Amino acid sequence: MPKIDFLNVSKQFGRIVAVKDLNFTIEDGEYLSFLGPSGCGKTTTLRLLSGLILPTKGKILWDGKPIQDLPPDLRDIGYVFQQFAIFPHMNLYENVAYPLEVRGFSTIDVEETVEEYLKLVGLENKAHLFPRDVGAADLQRTGVARVLARGAKVLLLDEPYGALDFKVREEFQDEMRRIVKELKLTAIHVTHDQSEAMAISDRVAIMKKGSMIQLASPTELLFNPSQIFSAHFVGEANFLEGIVSEKNHEYILVETVDGWNFKVTRSFESFLIGDRVIMGFRKGFAKVLTNNQEKVLNIIKGDVLSDRYLGEKRRTKIHLEFGRSIEIMQLPHEPVLAKGDAITIEILPENILLFRYPARGLEDALEVT
Ligand code: ATP
Repeated sequence: MPKIDFLNVSKQFGRIVAVKDLNFTIEDGEYLSFLGPSGCGKTTTLRLLSGLILPTKGKILWDGKPIQDLPPDLRDIGYVFQQFAIFPHMNLYENVAYPLEVRGFSTIDVEETVEEYLKLVGLENKAHLFPRDVGAADLQRTGVARVLARGAKVLLLDEPYGALDFKVREEFQDEMRRIVKELKLTAIHVTHDQSEAMAISDRVAIMKKGSMIQLASPTELLFNPSQIFSAHFVGEANFLEGIVSEKNHEYILVETVDGWNFKVTRSFESFLIGDRVIMGFRKGFAKVLTNNQEKVLNIIKGDVLSDRYLGEKRRTKIHLEFGRSIEIMQLPHEPVLAKGDAITIEILPENILLFRYPARGLEDALEVT
């Protein structure tokens, strides 16, 4: 429901900078996820918004009003954790009713509210059951009903599906998104699981070492990442170093350090001949060529290191010259390759992601911690 702004928000714990200079807006009714490796500052950001901790500097605005110094109970926020504190001696109805009773709601109001929210999360027929009689997903639903019944307008979800089985998790993701959109809530979700973030969110904030690297829609992150780290952390990509060797109005040519030449037709305008660049391509966007003799541009040749199934995809590792290797993903029905087979792959110009060579090198840009 509300729109939230973070303005130059930083949080330090002693000498540890947990988050630094966060500047972003969560739009009214938006489902936004924070995605990043362990320790990058995701939970700290949620706790700052909930009021459990206060920023070292900066402001947090709730529909334009500063809230950074308000205590948690004066913010209409519901916090959904991986493991809810569900009272074991109360049935599901009583668990949802309890905070309302504490707040002095009339019996009739408690009844109406609890029924409404138990129905919303699909627990209307399980209200009489005790926590020991239901599974982890229903406990989580009870927790969600409880924070919503209390009137939360913003939902903070911190790895909320961590305790759930894979299949149940997928259902729950759909369910949470439906609830958030139906009630027009604003939701902020923390996860280190990229597929979860991509499946559920309107936008995803990529975090690294306390900073926000990119905030964009899942499609934008996949097809147009602005940073090497986003391209690396969302989806899977290979990166090759090169130099811009030619430029005209329609494309540039990049020569990689291994001597392969690539035509690049996307987002090349700001690059100049001689610029040192990193060229990225998604592992699923490379095509294995069978009769390739005449092609000289946008190909890489190597030999197969391994070709194996991982889930429903085939992953083919390719050894290049100078000891480097890359990996591509193929559909399962493509011909299986043997170790040592010569292989040529093609990456179309429009599937190449181009980045400036990072000041501290590629390894540093890819580092997750
Ligand atoms: P995870 O996915 O592992 O939960 P995270 O991205 O949520 O990680 P945070 O929990 O926000 O990361 O932590 C960010 C940094 O701040 C880490 O270096 C962490 O050790 C540190 N930190 C967080 N809370 C405290 C605290 N109360 N005291 C000291 N350091 C803290």
